[in-house]
Amino acid sequence: MNRHYELPLDEAAYSFGFLDEFAKREIRRTILKAISIPGYQTPYASREMPMGRGFGTGGLQLTLALIGSNDTLKVIDQGSDDSVNAVNLRHFVELTCPQVNTTERTSEATLIQSRHRIPEQPLSEQQILVLQVPYPDPLVVVEPSEARRKVMHGEGDYSRLLTKLYEDIVQFDEITISHRYPTRINGHYVIDPSPIPRYDVPQLHQSKALVLLGAGREKKIYAVPPYTHAAPLVFDDVPFRIEDFRDASGARRACDRCGACDSFLDEMIADDGSKSWQCSDSDYCNEQLAVNASPAEVNA
Ligand SMILES: [Zn+2]
Repeated sequence: MNRHYELPLDEAAYSFGFLDEFAKREIRRTILKAISIPGYQTPYASREMPMGRGFGTGGLQLTLALIGSNDTLKVIDQGSDDSVNAVNLRHFVELTCPQVNTTERTSEATLIQSRHRIPEQPLSEQQILVLQVPYPDPLVVVEPSEARRKVMHGEGDYSRLLTKLYEDIVQFDEITISHRYPTRINGHYVIDPSPIPRYDVPQLHQSKALVLLGAGREKKIYAVPPYTHAAPLVFDDVPFRIEDFRDASGARRACDRCGACDSFLDEMIADDGSKSWQCSDSDYCNEQLAVNASPAEVNA
């Protein structure tokens, strides 16, 4: 979206939050159903948005149905507030929701819409996390028919998915799913937690914040309610493993910018081929930088 784009002058035709009240009500009802049946992919009438499906329209519809003039919104893409997708979605909300505040600080936000990451900083009961989902059904890798997948979900039959994970271990000595790791919610439904890294999956477990997942193209909404059990699919003798950030000598890598040793790192490769590592969560990185900087540097 062009940064200088403005809505047509006849703004009276636009309701707050772009969606009409009927659409918002339907999405809110779907959210309530999704919360009542944790992990269940609840169908809804995904509306056409003025952007292509696949650009976060599912997450955006959740955000627009929930946001009120007292809310403070943060939008991130791969942990960054400044990437194209995040900037465009934030700009769209600013255009269509006058009075709504936006922020880049995780702690200040009441509503966080995210693509591919859960913020590093633990979320609170006062916050809602909305995740953009490209493919909502973890069973799609083993069963092409949606009707049959629905039966499998209903019966809690994930044997074929477990067989796929087992075959991975036999063939590659490692489960090859790096993102979208299948996660069982509240002891029954297995969800695709959207393309978050494995590192973020444990944050879904007993999360204080409500986590909502929206797939616009696939017309599904599902939820991980606060204080809900979320367990990645594993075998008794093969524990769940998150990304390994150790260097050749076995030491945990630190962020080259802020020095944090407890964050998810992005690997950067410079033109000369040298590698560096930096926090993927830009707000967390800035915060650690401010904490670690001496008072003189902060004042400079
Ligand atoms: Zn950092």
